[in-house]
Amino acid sequence: MRKTALYYNDIFLEHLVPIGHPENKNRIRFILDKIKKSDLKGLKINSAKPANYNILRLGHSDKYLNWLDRLKPGEEIIKIDQDTFMSKKSLQAAKIGVGCVIGAIDSIVEMQNKNAFCLIRPPGHHAEREKAMGFCFLNNIAIGAKYLKEIKQIDKIAIVDFDVHHGNGTQNILWNDPDCLFISIHQSNLFPFTGLENETGNKNNILNIPVNANSNSFEFRYIVDKVVIPRLKEFQPKFLLISAGFDGEKNDQMSQTQWVESDFIYLTKKLKNLAKKYCDNRIVSCLEGGYHLEKLASCCVSHIKSLME
Ligand SMILES: [Zn+2]
Repeated sequence: MRKTALYYNDIFLEHLVPIGHPENKNRIRFILDKIKKSDLKGLKINSAKPANYNILRLGHSDKYLNWLDRLKPGEEIIKIDQDTFMSKKSLQAAKIGVGCVIGAIDSIVEMQNKNAFCLIRPPGHHAEREKAMGFCFLNNIAIGAKYLKEIKQIDKIAIVDFDVHHGNGTQNILWNDPDCLFISIHQSNLFPFTGLENETGNKNNILNIPVNANSNSFEFRYIVDKVVIPRLKEFQPKFLLISAGFDGEKNDQMSQTQWVESDFIYLTKKLKNLAKKYCDNRIVSCLEGGYHLEKLASCCVSHIKSLME
């Protein structure tokens, strides 16, 4: 029977950031620790090679990729912008992160696994075609979508992004692609300050659902049932990708939204049902944000468990 696979590599602990930076290796450590303590029987743990240049080009320009390659930090951590930092192993970690998504997709398309979670960092959804920002260098999920379309020849790919910040990078890369439906639920007037309702993509393929800072479980589930799922049913995706960010959890200091763990699981289960109906169960979910270490670990493991059920 096909199972859930976890894609992970120890190099994700070697992407270093200045002391006090929220997107640090403890995020992965807490999640790994929680996985070890949880009863996740049957979870297959896999690693991956770095994605090659031709894969990275699916989401980013040559100019940008060459610029990234030339940065080459030594022992010093380089500041890319206010929030984004690069250490010696950061770019290699980012490339292996993309490699995990590609490996996960391949294994599912080849019927080895049912679905997969990519436990990766740095995150990806803020990285635009030509710009690193918001802790992100390479847009894992957008490259995955383009890979499914252009290399695996699968059209109709849906991406659901429930990180509390707008997935501006994913939107930027998929803006003109009618075969990729991008849906983002995020807090309005929060970094990166994009994701307004009127940003609908060149082919009406983007659905932004900004919510107010006081958004609660009731609203989250209402949006899932009345907006997200109906749009997915109308689109009928053949493969589902998830940008799984847990920074909308009510204890997370990065946002003001009042969402709780069971809300993320509610959405995960709905997406699983949808994938069963339209996608032959095919889902790849990728870690994005989530900065309250205990809550992040708990939400993330519950999300993986829901994928496994
Ligand atoms: Zn976020």
